[in-house]
Amino acid sequence: MIMGASACLGYAVGRVLTCVLVLALAGCTGSSPAAGTRTRSTPSSELVVPSTVSPTPSAQPIQSSGPPASSAQTAALFVPGPDGLPAVVDAGPRDSPRVALTFDADMTPLMLRRLDTGEVASYYNEALIEELRRLRVPATLFLTGLWMQRYPDVTRQLAADPLFELGTHTWQHRAFTADCYGLAQVPASEMLEEVTQAQQMLDELAGSRATRLFRFPGGCYDEAALRAIAPSGMTVIQFDVAAGDGFQHQPDAIVRTVLGGVRNGSIVVLHMNGGNTSPRTADAIGPIVDRLRARGYVLTTVTGLFSS
Ligand SMILES: [Zn+2]
Repeated sequence: MIMGASACLGYAVGRVLTCVLVLALAGCTGSSPAAGTRTRSTPSSELVVPSTVSPTPSAQPIQSSGPPASSAQTAALFVPGPDGLPAVVDAGPRDSPRVALTFDADMTPLMLRRLDTGEVASYYNEALIEELRRLRVPATLFLTGLWMQRYPDVTRQLAADPLFELGTHTWQHRAFTADCYGLAQVPASEMLEEVTQAQQMLDELAGSRATRLFRFPGGCYDEAALRAIAPSGMTVIQFDVAAGDGFQHQPDAIVRTVLGGVRNGSIVVLHMNGGNTSPRTADAIGPIVDRLRARGYVLTTVTGLFSS
């Protein structure tokens, strides 16, 4: 059950949820996240949620010079709220034409099996990363622990590239609320470890370039989840634009979604898995970058949004 459900990556196309990973069907209801929870679509789920529902509890960015990239620098940039809960960041300042493109690297036990059986050749979208490098696009990458464990050398290479800022995305991509796009739910007692285990791997592979930036799978969280992970010292990075690249086979659709949603300070969520889960992101990124820059936006990392 855990394996099957955790494998269910529910991706919403428009507002219609579609489960495509077969073993997960039992765990994928196709329904929207539970009402009353603070939920956002993200990595594995691309449901565009209006930014007005965003909680943004306690992000308190501090101005700094230059784009911070280390754990110490990001820790200084975002401080927890007075209630002790992690800061949650949905977007940067709206008075500056900066945009942060972010890319999640999901990995579940089912995805690992697809790699092991050869059904999927790779969940590292190298073409996408090379396109970002070619276009000189800074980006923030949120990596799951299982992904880093599968691609340790790639993780080291990404960490060594000053274009990229690295955060985490849990160990095995389980949801932190019920009814989160069909994702398996991590028990409350395991929430903190799900976060810290991935962070330990990032620290090991990225060293001083590991940040304490974190994104919830499915973008789903509530106060209980925030309280559970508070000891980890993470800053939660959400987004205000979901690119909808999950299971999207039309690059133009991804381009239109991003261009239609971006404004000053936007944080855009895309994916760097490739394979069957985000097959056309690499084809969409060039037009996205070109058109955003033509509109006058400066592309930067998440922390770069808050830098002076
Ligand atoms: Zn994800």
